[in-house]
Order: sequence, then structure tokens, then C-alpha cells
Amino acid sequence: MKIVADLNKCEGLGMCEAMANDYFMVDEDEDQVEVLDDSPPEKDRAHVYAAVQACPVLALTLEG
Ligand code: SF4
Repeated sequence: MKIVADLNKCEGLGMCEAMANDYFMVDEDEDQVEVLDDSPPEKDRAHVYAAVQACPVLALTLEG
């Protein structure tokens, strides 16, 4: 499982960080998400998936 962030789409809205701040952090200067760990363990799939789904501009995808 791999988190992919499309920084061309990300608007720094922070929904992903609100849902899973252990995986996502928004850089306030750049208004872009930083993925803190792009290879979550399988046990965190539902947690990470909820954050991916929360992105209003569909900038996040989960591969694998
Ligand atoms: S929710 Fe989407 S737009 Fe907002 S910071 Fe996360 S990836 Fe970027």
C-alpha cells in the first residue's frame, strides 16, 4: 500500500491532516500536503483510506 499525493491538485485544505495527522502534514507556507509516511502498514488501511477519501479535490490516492 502506497500513498500518492498529486501536489498539482492539492490546495492545502488540511482535511487529510485532520483525519490522519500521523500520515499527513500541511505546510502552511506552501499550502501543500507533506506525506509523512507513504507506506502505511496494512493495519492502518482503513484509517489512511478515510483520510484519502476526505480530500475535497481528490489529490490523494492509495495504490496497492
Ligand atoms: S485534503 Fe487534499 S487538498 Fe487538503 S491538504 Fe490534503 S491532499 Fe491537499
